[in-house]
Amino acid sequence: MRESVPYIVAGPCSVESRGQLSAVAEALARLPQVSMIRCGVWKPRTRPGGFEGYGETALQWVAECRGAVDAVRRECGGDRMRFCCEVALPEHVELVLRYGMDAVWIGARTTASPFMVQELTEALRGTGLPVMVKNAPSPDVRLWMGAIERCRQVGLTDLTAVHRGFDVFRNDGYRNNPLWEVPIELRRTMPEVPILCDPSHIAGRRKPIATLSQTALNLGFDGLMIEVHPQPSVALTDAGQQLSPDELAVLIGGLVMRSTDSVVADEELRMLREQIDCLDTEVLQLLASRFAVSRQIARIKMEGNLAVFQPKRWDALLRQRMETAQQLGLDAEFVKGFFEKIHAESVRVQEMEMEKLKIDN
Ligand code: PEP
Ligand code: MN
Repeated sequence: MRESVPYIVAGPCSVESRGQLSAVAEALARLPQVSMIRCGVWKPRTRPGGFEGYGETALQWVAECRGAVDAVRRECGGDRMRFCCEVALPEHVELVLRYGMDAVWIGARTTASPFMVQELTEALRGTGLPVMVKNAPSPDVRLWMGAIERCRQVGLTDLTAVHRGFDVFRNDGYRNNPLWEVPIELRRTMPEVPILCDPSHIAGRRKPIATLSQTALNLGFDGLMIEVHPQPSVALTDAGQQLSPDELAVLIGGLVMRSTDSVVADEELRMLREQIDCLDTEVLQLLASRFAVSRQIARIKMEGNLAVFQPKRWDALLRQRMETAQQLGLDAEFVKGFFEKIHAESVRVQEMEMEKLKIDN
């Protein structure tokens, strides 16, 4: 059953110094809603040459800052603070255990490789560590499920999925497109696995993080993993998307946890409407892309002195769309009417574009 408050993991993308870690960890210790501090120790960089994390030294800093962090926590009436970091290699697991980290996560790039996940989970066998599994960068829910299943196969039971968005052809203004239907499918197939949303890596910038966080809660996610830095603008990694501790406090204050068993029907209806809103946005984005292509076609037709309306092409297109519609279980007449409207608009857009090109020349 869902908790009545979201589970919040927050902390810096990377541990950059003892001072940076203490500053952010002590600030987060004052926020009772934060249950665990995330702190990247080994950073998977897409290209070589960037800051790759301080590794074991950073783990030492974590161990050293715990006393002061827990003192703040006690002052505020809270429990001991927990810390987690990403592990990507078996030797990372060894070091994490040596320095007493409370949990780990498997990063997106690792989840993408079943060989790496297998090696990692072998190293985690018998440790009992809680493991958070991020989705792979590609929107293949089976890779995500596979990594969770491999964790289970070595006896790990405290497992959480983390949705960090997907790197797809159209990222729709995000660093990683949320494609909410993928975590929704994970929830359907693995309802027992809690899911956190990582709006920081979805957004890639600060502004959309609060809205994404609320959307995740609206969709029934169990919590959030958010990047927080004492001075985001000078962060060594992901500077554009980290929040300050004060910004996180404001964000948390504005969150509404949508839940409660007493209104299951309403809750389900609201979640479905949220899905409809997301899907409709995608439909509109696709339409916008389609008309952008129409404008490019107009230019080529004008250069080749071709008519805007090409009856043979239109006939073939309509037949093919209706066939696809039938295969997808859609009403063929509805789809015909839909494409007639789209086609009419496409003709109008092409004509306008030709007019514009005439004037420009
Ligand atoms: C991270 O959380 O620091 C990270 C590298 O994220 P991801 O694996 O989602 O890219
Ligand atoms: Mn990051």
